[in-house]
Amino acid sequence: MYLTTLNLFTFRNYRRQELTFHPRINIFSGLNAQGKTNLLEAVYFLTVSRSFRTNQESDLPSFGSDSFSLKGALQKKGERSGIELYYRVSRALRIVLNGKTVPRSEYIYRHPVVIFTPDDLLLIKEGPARRRRFLDTEGSRLKPLYLRRLRDYSRVLRQRNRVLKERRSGRIVDYSPMEPWDEALVKLGGIIVRERIKLLEALQTQARPHYGALSGGGESLSLHYRPTIKYGDDPAFIEQSFQEQLREGYRTELRTGSTMTGPHLDDFAVTINGVDARKFASQGQQRSVVLSLKIGEVELFKKTGEETILLLDDIFSEFDEKRSAHLLQFLSEREGQSFITTASPQWAGGGRRLRRARAFSVHGGKIRID
Ligand code: ATP
Ligand code: MG
Repeated sequence: MYLTTLNLFTFRNYRRQELTFHPRINIFSGLNAQGKTNLLEAVYFLTVSRSFRTNQESDLPSFGSDSFSLKGALQKKGERSGIELYYRVSRALRIVLNGKTVPRSEYIYRHPVVIFTPDDLLLIKEGPARRRRFLDTEGSRLKPLYLRRLRDYSRVLRQRNRVLKERRSGRIVDYSPMEPWDEALVKLGGIIVRERIKLLEALQTQARPHYGALSGGGESLSLHYRPTIKYGDDPAFIEQSFQEQLREGYRTELRTGSTMTGPHLDDFAVTINGVDARKFASQGQQRSVVLSLKIGEVELFKKTGEETILLLDDIFSEFDEKRSAHLLQFLSEREGQSFITTASPQWAGGGRRLRRARAFSVHGGKIRID
């Protein structure tokens, strides 16, 4: 799948811009604050219907405007589809796919698009919420059923927490009103945990060789699921243990008014040669871990027969020569489409020499082909 055209109307610092892309590599170079990341954001928003930098969609129209639109065409296995997105402040986003309006819940995660930004380093350094979001986003992209289970789980969790809060004031210890919620939560939670473990294993298999190459060999990457449900090493016991822990935690949960065990609180750990990356990895190692995970995602999609659109924001400024060379080789050998931004003239020059690539210059919210 690749994007052939993109038109932006009053999106960020673009008033009006029409672009035609190369099916393989597209390089955008320019000084700081010219609109490079904004362009990647537009590509991501068009294909995913979300921004990777903000949940506040009212930030996206150009200053002084209260609306924006993005239009583009995707080419997938010989078929072209037209996408139009219309946004106006305090109205719902309208998504038109091949002339038909579709709800966002159906559109989101429909296209495999993977982004790497310097912010993604927080995936290693920050708390578990960001890592869960990573697993859930990728799980949802790979498997629409995962997204549905996740939504069901969140709904049951909210209802269970409401019951806990309602009972907080009284001194009711009878457990029976919790049972129907527990049953649903345990069933959905079991599915989610098992899916996440499978996803991490698959991701580890794909990411390892890339981490090895990026690190120059001698370092081994591992991913470990860190559940709040104590089921030992045997996922067959997830449901039973989850159920028991919910019951055991009941009195505490009545005090806090929230469910304190389950996949909504789980995490995963990354280790390099057995050592926790969150605590001990150097900056360069953290970058390589995140990049390997992202390339791992791309490889996972490829196994399902789909080529991912890969967005790389300012990545070469973060890597030494050896790592950059590995990345460039990967990009020029892959079948899928890539969008790369750089503020460095050296990388822009290197990019122009690549085969099957188109180079663009970004200046003050205007883009032209070099
Ligand atoms: P860098 O190399 O520093 O990362 P960049 O080219 O990626 O720079 P962008 O993040 O794309 O820069 O932002 C370019 C400019 O867009 C910024 O100066 C910012 O103030 C401006 N900008 C952001 N949002 C809007 C908006 N809604 N309307 C108009 N301009 C905006
Ligand atoms: Mg930028």
